[in-house]
Amino acid sequence: MSSRIALLPDHVANQIAAGEVIQRPASVVKELLENAVDAQAQTIQLIIKNAGKTLIQVIDDGMGMNSTDIRLAFERHATSKINVAEDLFALNTKGFRGEALASIAAIAHVETHTRTKADEVSHCLKIEGSKVVDQTLSTQPKGTSIAVKSLFYNIPARRNFLKSDTVELRHVIDEFQRVALAHPEIKFLFFNNGSELFDLPPAVLRKRISGAFGAKWDTNLVPTEETTSLATLTGFVLKPEFAKKTRGQQFFFVNNRFIKSPFLHHAVSSAFEGLLKPGYHPGYFLYLTVDPKTIDINIHPTKNEIKFEEEQSVYAILRSAVKHSLGVFQVVPTLDFEQNTALDVPYAFKEKIPTPPPIEVDSSFNPFRSSAPISKPKKEEWEGILSGIQIDAPVLEKETVESLIDVPQTTRLFQLFHKYIVCPLQTRMLLIDQNRAHQRILYEQFLSSITAKKGVSQQLLFPLEMSLNPAQMLEYEQMNEILEALGFQIELKKDQVLQVLGSPEHCPPTKIEPLLENLLSGESTDRSIAHFSQADQIAKTMAKNLAIKTGEPLQVEEQQVLLDDFFGCKETSVSPFNKPIFITLEKREIEQKLN
Ligand code: ADP
Ligand code: MG
Repeated sequence: MSSRIALLPDHVANQIAAGEVIQRPASVVKELLENAVDAQAQTIQLIIKNAGKTLIQVIDDGMGMNSTDIRLAFERHATSKINVAEDLFALNTKGFRGEALASIAAIAHVETHTRTKADEVSHCLKIEGSKVVDQTLSTQPKGTSIAVKSLFYNIPARRNFLKSDTVELRHVIDEFQRVALAHPEIKFLFFNNGSELFDLPPAVLRKRISGAFGAKWDTNLVPTEETTSLATLTGFVLKPEFAKKTRGQQFFFVNNRFIKSPFLHHAVSSAFEGLLKPGYHPGYFLYLTVDPKTIDINIHPTKNEIKFEEEQSVYAILRSAVKHSLGVFQVVPTLDFEQNTALDVPYAFKEKIPTPPPIEVDSSFNPFRSSAPISKPKKEEWEGILSGIQIDAPVLEKETVESLIDVPQTTRLFQLFHKYIVCPLQTRMLLIDQNRAHQRILYEQFLSSITAKKGVSQQLLFPLEMSLNPAQMLEYEQMNEILEALGFQIELKKDQVLQVLGSPEHCPPTKIEPLLENLLSGESTDRSIAHFSQADQIAKTMAKNLAIKTGEPLQVEEQQVLLDDFFGCKETSVSPFNKPIFITLEKREIEQKLN
């Protein structure tokens, strides 16, 4: 009887392994860049086409491979980095599993040129789907160039699963930045579709960070240092006032390897406690050096998770070092010693009677001062609106509807908890969330500006300059037509510097910069699931940023305009983020409760 069990052919095993290591073009970028770092390159170039879907090439000037090694490199479990299992505990290289190149070659066309210092000529090897198709000699300088073409050509399901070029490029940039930040001493270049995205010369860390994220970062960083017998910590945290609403700039490196660790993140976040506005995230670039023996990085195939032997101590070191640096550089407001002697609490939170947070109001800004006349809903429309909100109420008699129709204009509205507008009607009460209602109004207006391409623009008295980093620049190029349609007047001054001359209505000058930062952060493209258009995402981000906030006091007239505008919306039940906007409370419900 023949056996049911057979060993998987190598190319199948490689394809399966590839599934774990290579999820998208960015995974290939990570592996190739790390190999170049391991090969002690001084200059590393990354060249991609169509976000890596067509081509990913990494060229380095490192140690190269000889004619035997070039073949071995593509075998599974072939590595020059460890020999025996114990070596795993003394790792100073990025790679060690010896499966990246084998995996990549299983699912793409790979062309490698490589030359060691000792060799006179370079060796060229071409592999397609794990099969060697050509091996020749060539004349290349010392170092290695690996070009990966037609990624996932033999796994259509994977290929179809890839996101748009913008999203994939974002992932590639993320990986590139992680490696570049881990090795400021190496020169990195990055070209996408023939244009240069990054040119990062060897530099000290601070300069590398501003090279990767934009010049203004330089002054916003606070150095963080600590040395203990267990670990050495160096790096920077971002001053709390520059914290972002997005989680973008959080980087941990352990022995120069980028690591994702909710545990370490928590340590840093807790050091920022009381210094950040709710919803804001700390930014940091922190580098821990520990004895390789005390960590296990082998727990995930992509090697960006980690386990520490002395987790609690590492946590404590991080937390206290970050706290210390925030204190030393006086980014923490002066402590009130009379009220609070507990060192662990940054502010006298516990003893103080809470006062409402100060509200940043731009006094010149009136969200209701719209240049377009507000079209008040007609009588018949109110009827429709009122019947629309009649969720499970009994059908109103004709008479009642008639009497309700002009109620919203004459009745006295009031604001509750600086959060809701209460609108009393004949037989019920509406409770409307001011923030969500305004989001809905703005979202619909912005979306129609984009579609009609005629957003109203207001000239700025003082044009505003913003310097962008390469990633933001890319986002800007992707969305500048939409921004223009919305009413932004933006000129590209010189390299990566924008000048904002005009902004859409409802966008006060003080909000332009944070709004653009948000729009260009990649969030509007990252989350784009196929059916959400970019315009939709942008309109949402705009609405979210510019809507009246919870906590803002509103005058009665402002409440009235808000309601009028709101009832003029196409959709009134949910906000652009799918949250309910209002509830109704029936008279009889109140009566029942008070029965
Ligand atoms: P690992 O990095 O885990 O060892 P890889 O599959 O990434 O496994 O690479 C296999 C081997 O190929 C490496 O151990 C190294 O010896 C060699 N190699 C890969 N890339 C380069 C490069 N750019 N320069 C020199 N040698 C390389
Ligand atoms: Mg490797």
